[in-house]
Amino acid sequence: MLFNPTIETMPLPRLRALQNERLRNLVQRVYRQVPWYRHKFDAAGLAPTDIRTVEDLRRLPFTTKNDLRDNYPFGLLATPRTELVRIHASSGTTGKPTVVGYTPADIDLFSEVVARSLAAAGGKPGMILHNAYGYGLFTGGLGLHYGGEKLGMTVVPVSGGMTDRQLLLLRDFGAEMICCTPSYAQTLAEEVNKRGIDLAEFSLRYAVLGAEPWTETMRAYVEQGLSVSATNIYGLSEIIGPGVSQEDVDERGSGSYVWEDHFFPEVVDKNTGEPLPEGREGVLVFTTLTKEAMPLLRYWTNDICSLHYDRGGKRTHIKMSAITGRADDMLIIRGVNLFHTQVEALISDIPELSAHYQLVVTRSGTLDEVEVRVEISELHQQMLEQQHIATHLQRKIKDNIGISMRVTLHAVGDIPRSEGGKLKRILDLRG
Ligand code: ADP
Repeated sequence: MLFNPTIETMPLPRLRALQNERLRNLVQRVYRQVPWYRHKFDAAGLAPTDIRTVEDLRRLPFTTKNDLRDNYPFGLLATPRTELVRIHASSGTTGKPTVVGYTPADIDLFSEVVARSLAAAGGKPGMILHNAYGYGLFTGGLGLHYGGEKLGMTVVPVSGGMTDRQLLLLRDFGAEMICCTPSYAQTLAEEVNKRGIDLAEFSLRYAVLGAEPWTETMRAYVEQGLSVSATNIYGLSEIIGPGVSQEDVDERGSGSYVWEDHFFPEVVDKNTGEPLPEGREGVLVFTTLTKEAMPLLRYWTNDICSLHYDRGGKRTHIKMSAITGRADDMLIIRGVNLFHTQVEALISDIPELSAHYQLVVTRSGTLDEVEVRVEISELHQQMLEQQHIATHLQRKIKDNIGISMRVTLHAVGDIPRSEGGKLKRILDLRG
């Protein structure tokens, strides 16, 4: 279902004209109201009138997470602090949290893009939405909550954790849609299986998963384990929260629509910062075209993906590929760049292994070493001693990624699970 068909199917030339008009207003406003941006423009020898179309964005410097930290907490606001009706912060996965503020119009915008996202994921007015994202400073809980209400869904604000209660409410209330992190959906699917719960007692049909990178392997696991169609929702607090982009339930696997009437995306080269053409992988950068309280120009997300227009899709907006990882989560092991999702993809090709794994990085002398801890799948428990499975994965990793890693097999339940939030897949013990 399309929540806002006029915007979601707007022909590209009109969408571009809308973006350009919004960008011109934004640049004027930011220059006038945020001293930090004014200095940036002045230092680059640019006047607001130099930025007329999204093509001109490349002339502007990037805004980074460090810039937000330097202006902690309210230095980048474009409105007086007293006009904020809400404050959120990033979940602090990679250091000190960054703070963001919302005016009433920003909350409306946030709800609109989440409502569009939930509709694309299969949601409809009247459906029960079981919201297992954490409520609090993290944008996930309240973001999905307001968006669900905007779409006309009945929102159950369960928040994360307490798996017993989650399962009870899922069954008793008959939620058709659940949203949470993919790793927590994995936990729920596993518990359903462990307790021998009959999924026929549930009404679940859709899962909306995001806040951390995930792969097709995880999708298959969750779809089968919870009997749902699972789609990807992406976002970050600096830009608004979840709902910056969303996958359509009928177009799974082909990327997530970026609501580009509000968030203009670019993918740029990680080293040179030069914008890259459609289909090329690089760092995702966003300009918030409409946000009032804390608009950002060319925000460097550190997330790695590519962009492309899907001419066969239901909507005209550009799609982003799944995030392979964060640039700052990327391990460099003996000169080779590595994301944990690459290892996950190889694990998934081996039926004797489960989707529960962790990478442990240590240093011996000057050499970095990676141990892949992976669980044997339930069906193959008796094979725990079978070294040939470990050797098989080890060889695949060496052939495909080019690094030798130690692989150790573990019993079901030995690798940490998500208890509601984001799961740490990498244990870095290199001091
Ligand atoms: P933090 O940076 O502290 O985790 P946020 O809670 O704002 O703060 O998280 C935003 C980040 O979470 C994104 O920049 C991205 O790295 C990750 N993320 C969010 N949604 C997804 C998704 N669907 N796929 C991959 N990564 C995601």
